[in-house]
Amino acid sequence: MGEDVARDPECIFCKILEGDIPAYKLFEDEHTFAFMDINPLNDGHALIIPKDHHPNIFDTPTNVLAPLMETTQRIARAIQNSIAPDGINILQANGHGAAQSVFHVHFHVLPRKNGDDAKLNWGLRPGDMDHISDLAQQIRVAIKD
Ligand code: AMP
Ligand code: ZN
Repeated sequence: MGEDVARDPECIFCKILEGDIPAYKLFEDEHTFAFMDINPLNDGHALIIPKDHHPNIFDTPTNVLAPLMETTQRIARAIQNSIAPDGINILQANGHGAAQSVFHVHFHVLPRKNGDDAKLNWGLRPGDMDHISDLAQQIRVAIKD
């Protein structure tokens, strides 16, 4: 664990940040980390998290939200330029009623297909990991400085 970061040992995203469980990493910088969602709504579904553990948007300091949004834009652009979906939603859930299932604040970059009729509670179904790995590589090469 880094000396200056706040982590929750029970949190699955903190475990990814610690390298204790694997992830299809897309990008990281000093404050943020981006990786593929393993239960994707559509091809290219990605998550952006801060390196510090904050459960939701209410308790995330603005100086953490700012780089989080910067990385979210960077990943959304890379997905647009590589996967080229019909559209992209940026989504962030707070609380069970909003279908938040991991209590480490995160932004979803949700690629959309015309007519996919996606619901906010889309349900978690494991994706094909080889396919997710291929998509991650396509996105990585499209990430700009
Ligand atoms: P939310 O429902 O907004 O809290 O979203 C949490 C997201 O984290 C879901 O879309 C899950 O599929 C995703 N997720 C959970 N565990 C992992 C993991 N180990 N690697 C990648 N994504 C995960
Ligand atoms: Zn965490």
